[in-house]
Amino acid sequence: MTQPVLRVDDLVKVYPVRGTDQLLRAVSGVSFTLGRGETLGIVGESGCGKSTTARLLVRLEEPTSGSISLDGQDITRVRGRALRAVRRRVQLVFQDPYASLNPRLTVSQTLEEVLRVHRLGGGAPQRRRRLDELLTMVGLGSGFADRYPHQLSGGQRQRVGVARALAVEPDVVVLDEPVSALDVSVQSEVMNLLTRLRAELDLSFVFISHDLGMVRHISDRIAVMYLGRVVELGPWRRVSDDPLHPYTRALQDAVPVADPAVEADRHVEPLAGEVPDPANPPAGCSFHPRCPLAEAICSSVDPDLAELLPRHEAACHVAARRVQQGGAGLPAAERT
Ligand code: SF4
Repeated sequence: MTQPVLRVDDLVKVYPVRGTDQLLRAVSGVSFTLGRGETLGIVGESGCGKSTTARLLVRLEEPTSGSISLDGQDITRVRGRALRAVRRRVQLVFQDPYASLNPRLTVSQTLEEVLRVHRLGGGAPQRRRRLDELLTMVGLGSGFADRYPHQLSGGQRQRVGVARALAVEPDVVVLDEPVSALDVSVQSEVMNLLTRLRAELDLSFVFISHDLGMVRHISDRIAVMYLGRVVELGPWRRVSDDPLHPYTRALQDAVPVADPAVEADRHVEPLAGEVPDPANPPAGCSFHPRCPLAEAICSSVDPDLAELLPRHEAACHVAARRVQQGGAGLPAAERT
């Protein structure tokens, strides 16, 4: 197997809770690899630690423990010039295109600033050519160069955000809910753009979303996070169509069916309860207070993430037993 472009081992991020002696474990032992040209989708509800993971990957935050390697080189604690080099190779596209662009800079000034910070682009004529190339690449064209963010639609702003990330020719792009702030009609355009750019530029993506239906469209593999941990990880089709973990099953049930007639007839029980407080997580499996399949062991023993099927991992006592007994995954009758 070729070396992954990105490797994350046992990543932990703990924050002190102000005014108390409590600690909030936002990310709790996350491990995964990202192959070259691969898209890993990370999915989970708000507060599951996926955005903190994104910020750790691009080194906007320091992990409490664990490691991140880029092409085999440990980048967990690099500083100065080495950190700038990492930031060039691993870029972040933010969730909110409205907030992530400087309202006082035109599109060309925004892109030029990135080239200047990373000392790229050469002289003025070369920079101009590069800006045109970037704007064409994201489907805007040079006619947008002198516009300010307020003169752009949400989709156009996010295209500028993508162009800004690509300006430095990264290897890995971390996309944190890149389309969730956009109108539904624009979401698919931006998703198609991302899919095209990934193939054309041989990029590797970490694509983060709360929406399993969105993640499955673009991912090769999917990691499902719950309360700071990865609870299921595997090939996209298996995770999205035949999940092992009851939480993934609940996320899958929440994805609307494309056929409106089928959707109208479908009865979906919403997942009971709220995501627990990460500063005070439940004992045992952290999903047990909401899990329709919970057994006595679940409230005392935290299941390890284990490879239950080839390349398909899950952290669940019941799923592990069922796979061992020869029935892969959870029977339809017991789907939440
Ligand atoms: Fe549910 Fe138990 Fe599996 Fe946790 S370990 S997901 S509580 S069945």
